[in-house]
Amino acid sequence: MSILAVAIEEPGRVALVQRPRKELWPGSVRVRVQACGICTLEKRIYSGALNLGYPIVAGHEVGGVIEEVGPQVLGDFRPGQRVALDLLTRCGQCHWCRRGHTNRCENRFMGRNGMLGGLSQEAVVPAREVFVLPETVAPTVATLAEPLADCLHCLARAGLNHQDPVAVVGLGVMGQLHAALLAHLGHATLGVDPLAAKRQLALDLGARAAVVPAEAPQAMQELSRGYGASSVIVTAPQAEALDLGLSLLGKGGTLVTYSSYGAEERLSLDLNRLHYQEITLTGTEGRTELDFERAVGLLAAGSLDISRLVSRTYPASQAAQAFQAAQDPELYRVVVTF
Ligand SMILES: [Zn+2]
Ligand SMILES: [Zn+2]
Repeated sequence: MSILAVAIEEPGRVALVQRPRKELWPGSVRVRVQACGICTLEKRIYSGALNLGYPIVAGHEVGGVIEEVGPQVLGDFRPGQRVALDLLTRCGQCHWCRRGHTNRCENRFMGRNGMLGGLSQEAVVPAREVFVLPETVAPTVATLAEPLADCLHCLARAGLNHQDPVAVVGLGVMGQLHAALLAHLGHATLGVDPLAAKRQLALDLGARAAVVPAEAPQAMQELSRGYGASSVIVTAPQAEALDLGLSLLGKGGTLVTYSSYGAEERLSLDLNRLHYQEITLTGTEGRTELDFERAVGLLAAGSLDISRLVSRTYPASQAAQAFQAAQDPELYRVVVTF
């Protein structure tokens, strides 16, 4: 018996293919995929910027329903439960996993069992990658559990202090998710983006103010009574965005770069800001399963509405159009449904 999957055959070419149905193994769960988002990772495989070998069935932002529970699964998993999947290998054995930093696992891209493969009618994955959600969470929204977990990991590194003002530079899907989360946590949030539609959505999601980059320093001064941001999240992958973020940061503040940068990008920084102003610069990488658990808890609670971040859905038969649409920088998540 075979199942349908969306394969990236080579850079720029997506096709619907038949794949053999996987057997359950001890400790695994079979999930019928209902929706899978096209994230930056998939876009990079599609563009050729990231080569994990072609053809590849990518996809790691999955909402679905449990179809079958394998032998020796110890957790409370039952057929019919709505789930989100954390499709990443965490070996549990390397230096970082042993210290609880499973987001840094040295083997996270090794072994295809349970890593990616979400753009498929079915996924058979280790039970530890399966997170149960209430039925009230739509499968398309469940796909956002993974990016939400990434944001929670980022915010844990952002030195959030009381409800001090925070800036989010860049209001793509990750910037919007950060802005929504920060508002949910009660922070006065300044969204920064050149595009008016993106600023409006940040306001709708709870940001206190949203401005174009040139107006951001003044707006942050006003929002913070002159003290500057206590935390800045930079989600735009340009060095200028990082420079702007630094200019918004107050004494003792923390700036987190969420994006990856081109290999040539360098930062020039007045080192006395580190010294006299006690600022912290850091980055964030992925999420741990604990972050994922927290993200799922937030979605389950139902008080954070991020459904507007799914811009479009395409049936798997139109996956090629979905990958085309995902290139549009004005859209947020594009989701493929099965
Ligand atoms: Zn993702
Ligand atoms: Zn590991």
